[in-house]
Amino acid sequence: MAEIYDIEVKLLSSTPDADNLIETAGRLCWDTQGKTGTVPDRIQKWIRIGHVSMIEHASATFYIRASRVLTHELIRHRLASYNQRSQRYVRELEAQYIEPPEIRDNNAAHDDFQRVMEACWATYRQLLSKGIKPELARYVLPNACETQIICTWNFREIRHIIQLRTSQQALPEMRAVAGHIRDIMKQLAPQVFADL
Ligand SMILES: Cc1cc2nc3c(=O)[nH]c(=O)nc-3n(C[C@H](O)[C@H](O)[C@H](O)COP(=O)(O)OP(=O)(O)OC[C@H]3O[C@@H](n4cnc5c(N)ncnc54)[C@H](O)[C@@H]3O)c2cc1C
Repeated sequence: MAEIYDIEVKLLSSTPDADNLIETAGRLCWDTQGKTGTVPDRIQKWIRIGHVSMIEHASATFYIRASRVLTHELIRHRLASYNQRSQRYVRELEAQYIEPPEIRDNNAAHDDFQRVMEACWATYRQLLSKGIKPELARYVLPNACETQIICTWNFREIRHIIQLRTSQQALPEMRAVAGHIRDIMKQLAPQVFADL
């Protein structure tokens, strides 16, 4: 079925009681901390007028398993901390890759795709067996290669990523990842993410 990607998005950690922390920071500006929690959409109102710096006080950390196509795009988001599985220090001996459903569900395209994946990994293993280091042998691995990354972003950056990366213009695999992030964040901090 199209749209279903074999990817994983997990929340690893986040600022505790984030909505409360953010409202406290915002209310400090007006010395109205005593009213914290009394206006249900207080944070959304600030966001609507562009007074958003207070949401930077909270952050979340995600584990993502996806393709290198996806992570190449994702790490363009600079207000972040990233750690990614290394192709220099880890031997990618097993053929692990993400196949877009649009290819998987088209028999002829799927056969071509599988053939090339097998050839890439066969060549990779041959290069290793000839004494080539993983950091050089990896030049034959495809963009589809599965990878794992841990990402930490503040809530303002997460909103930005959701807005850019759930749009119809975004890469389908990215839309899937960003959609998972949005669903998690709406649960975690409804006041900050309610409008997305
Ligand atoms: C649909 C789509 C297609 C794309 N196609 C291409 C493409 O063909 N080629 C390509 O190279 N990239 C492409 N990109 C990537 C895009 O150009 C951005 O690099 C990426 O989306 C990161 O977002 P951002 O630049 O808003 O910054 P982030 O790093 O997420 O930063 C968030 C915000 O902080 C501010 N900021 C961060 N750094 C600076 C800075 N140095 N100076 C001033 N303000 C800053 C900006 O307001 C920015 O929006 C594409 C992105 C999308 C969503």
